[in-house]
Amino acid sequence: MDNSPPHNLLDHIEDELKCGCCYELMVDPTTLDCGHTFCRLCVAKWWHTSKNINCLICRKPSQGFPEVSVQLRYEMCFEET
Ligand SMILES: [Zn+2]
Ligand SMILES: [Zn+2]
Repeated sequence: MDNSPPHNLLDHIEDELKCGCCYELMVDPTTLDCGHTFCRLCVAKWWHTSKNINCLICRKPSQGFPEVSVQLRYEMCFEET
């Protein structure tokens, strides 16, 4: 019996952490209304160019600038103090 962990587990996790726009590991992951997540920089770029955001993966539009991650909230709070 093969008890080794699935070899693709790490690859899968890395895929989850990769931005579907720039294909880099996401920094400050930002989740759109549709549930897909991109790095905040990519989302910010879309927002600045078109003032609306359609998900690259499913094309669902997001209303306003999407919610940012807990991590980012923390950083914003940190900057404000
Ligand atoms: Zn990105
Ligand atoms: Zn989507």
